[in-house]
Amino acid sequence: MAAGRLSATAPDDQSASLEGLRAADVAVGSVLYRLAVANDELCLKRAALTGLVLHSSNDYADSIRAAAIRHFDFESPIGIEGVIPGSPAAVAGIQSDDSLISVGGRPISASTDRADALAMLDAADPRQPLAITVKRHGQLLSVTLRPIEGCVAHVEVDVSDGLNAGTDGETIQVDSALVNLVGGNVQDLAVILSHELSHIVLDHPHRLTAAHVDRGFFRIFGKSGRLIKETENQADRLSVTLMANAGYDPQEAVHYWRTFGPRLNDGGGLGSVHLPWQQRADLIAAAVAAIPADAAKPIVPRWIESRKQPLR
Ligand SMILES: [Zn+2]
Repeated sequence: MAAGRLSATAPDDQSASLEGLRAADVAVGSVLYRLAVANDELCLKRAALTGLVLHSSNDYADSIRAAAIRHFDFESPIGIEGVIPGSPAAVAGIQSDDSLISVGGRPISASTDRADALAMLDAADPRQPLAITVKRHGQLLSVTLRPIEGCVAHVEVDVSDGLNAGTDGETIQVDSALVNLVGGNVQDLAVILSHELSHIVLDHPHRLTAAHVDRGFFRIFGKSGRLIKETENQADRLSVTLMANAGYDPQEAVHYWRTFGPRLNDGGGLGSVHLPWQQRADLIAAAVAAIPADAAKPIVPRWIESRKQPLR
């Protein structure tokens, strides 16, 4: 839901494109929700999860905003783009295209953007019921949710031809072309998102910043290159445990790299911070083999405690 999405769409295709975006956002949101709940114990930052997938009318480019407001029936700046099946929001009866009016008694104002609304939800106490008011076809509707605790992690699909995913430590960004490449397949999305959630669990973005690592043009050189490669390999290694904890088959990660590796232009060549895809698949296969078969879930690998140390 990056700003300016869908600027280049022809009017005839607008509804289909908007529904395509919704499908992608709800698909990645659902997989991340499952990973975030199941791996709660591994996360440094936790919050009340509701299962609401939010979007803001401001997320849409000027040229399509009016159409998006009509299509999604925005009655406040923040709309419910989707509701994750089985989540607290679904149980409470909130529906897609409801508009958010207040969270825990705090009103959504004209200047509230999506990040503000997510922060309001994240600030809620996971052990307390949460009052939410929405508007549906002009009618106000107040419900009480019983949130569930999980990792603080958000995801947004960027409309882009790239095949990248990344995170700043709280928000995961996934290129729409990557979601399309895997055909929205839930197992493949779990591979992509569990790698990014691993970066969050291991506090990599903040630790790389603290180590003054250059993530721009010079990222492949010297200390920056070494530390970025180290964090990428750690994220690959942890990702399969996060998948297993959430009930996804970790073997799918090996399959993912052997299937899509050649397409992902990640050959470990000049400019790459990753191992060549064949070696990534092998590293992941070894990590899958090391997962204890009958361990109680969630599995919390002891080595993640290294996240308390600075990267050097
Ligand atoms: Zn990574």
